[in-house]
Amino acid sequence: MIKNNSNKNIQMQEVIQNMLINQKGRFSINNIIEYPANNYKKLKEKAVECERCSLRQNCKQVVMGEGAVDRKIMFIGEAPGGTEDKEGRPFVGRAGNLLNKIFSAVDIKRENVYISNIVKCRPPDNRKPSLSEAKACSPILQAEFDLVQPKVIVPMGATALQHLLDEGASITESRGEWMQRGNYYFLPTFHPAYLLRNKNMKKYVWQDFKKIKAAVNRLQELNENNKI
Ligand code: SF4
Repeated sequence: MIKNNSNKNIQMQEVIQNMLINQKGRFSINNIIEYPANNYKKLKEKAVECERCSLRQNCKQVVMGEGAVDRKIMFIGEAPGGTEDKEGRPFVGRAGNLLNKIFSAVDIKRENVYISNIVKCRPPDNRKPSLSEAKACSPILQAEFDLVQPKVIVPMGATALQHLLDEGASITESRGEWMQRGNYYFLPTFHPAYLLRNKNMKKYVWQDFKKIKAAVNRLQELNENNKI
């Protein structure tokens, strides 16, 4: 019995170490690199110089997140793709165009949200970023969280969900369900790139974005009343 409990504890520690945000809503990895978190321009200037993992050797440039830093909502994808790597901006390729259409369909202005990725450099052949790469890049994401102070976070796709919250989570089972970690509220949904390959899944994303839109409206209301 004691042995089982101790094994469970060890497993739990491993799980906690393998996700970026712990149950208390804190980054579980010590931010050993200092990034300016009170000024987007300075943060970006510093982040684009990063060579902290090997992804930088094979990409054209670091692709920082972008968008509104005062609306308390973040969308987080996996990694830049080819178009993003070329243009230096997140979600500007085919998946980004689809995301823009989804935003329009629910009347969310892209410029009113912050959009980023788990890692800021394009992985070779668009493979998924590894856990060690996600951890290496986490100080930049942490600085983005410090800057945006999000209340609502939308992990898009399995990679974002698993690296952020739970390496064993299934995006199919978790999408559309609110999850709370400390002061953060997460609503996972499918990645737009997945929707490009699986058009019949769009109906689920429509349901998710109706919830996200309601949260955006609520945040705006609280913001206008200086309650957040
Ligand atoms: S992926 Fe992140 S940690 Fe790795 S080099 Fe690019 S910016 Fe730095």
